[in-house]
Amino acid sequence: MNPEPRTGDSPGPTMSTDLECASCDSPVAADDIECPHCGYPLKGSSEAQEKFFRDRDNWLLNFQDMNRKVRIATQTLYVLSGLSAIWGIVLYCISPANTQRAFTLFAYLLVACMYAGLGWWSKKRPVAAVVSALVIYIILQMLAFIDDPDNLIRGVISRVIILVYLVKGVRAAVGAERIRRNFHANP
Ligand SMILES: [Zn+2]
Repeated sequence: MNPEPRTGDSPGPTMSTDLECASCDSPVAADDIECPHCGYPLKGSSEAQEKFFRDRDNWLLNFQDMNRKVRIATQTLYVLSGLSAIWGIVLYCISPANTQRAFTLFAYLLVACMYAGLGWWSKKRPVAAVVSALVIYIILQMLAFIDDPDNLIRGVISRVIILVYLVKGVRAAVGAERIRRNFHANP
C-alpha cells in the first residue's frame, strides 16, 4: 500500500527552515520552546518576549559601556606612553651633548614602551594594567624627587594632568570590570 505522495511544499515541522527567531534571526524549529541560539522565548507570552528584548537591550548597553570604559583606560596608557617618549626627546634636544642625555633618552623611551605594553595588556586586564601604570608613575615621581627635590615643583601642571588622567583611567577600568563581573553573575 503506497501512501499518497505529498503534493504541497509542506515539510514536517522539525524540518522547517522558514522560521526565524525574532531576536537573533537564527533558523528555529516550529516545536522549539525557546531559541537554541539566544534563548528567546518563542512560545512565551508577549510579556515574556518583551522582557527578553528589554533585558537584551540592557545587556547590550552595559556591554557597550564596558567597552567604552576599557577604551578610555587603554587610551590613558597610550597617552602616557606618548608623553614619555615626547618628553624624553625634548629633554635630549635641550640638554648639552653628554653621555647623561643619551641615558635619559633611553630611560624615557623604556618607560614609554612600558606604558604602551600596559596599554596593550589593559584590553584584557584593565584594572591591573592601569593600577600598575599608576604605581610605576608614582615610583618614577619619587625617584625624580630623590634625585632633585626641585623636580616635583618644576613640572607640577603636567604631573597634575597626568595624575587626573590616570585616576580617570582607573575609574573607567574598575567600572568595566564591575560590568564584566555582572555578566558572569547573570549570563
Ligand atoms: Zn534567537
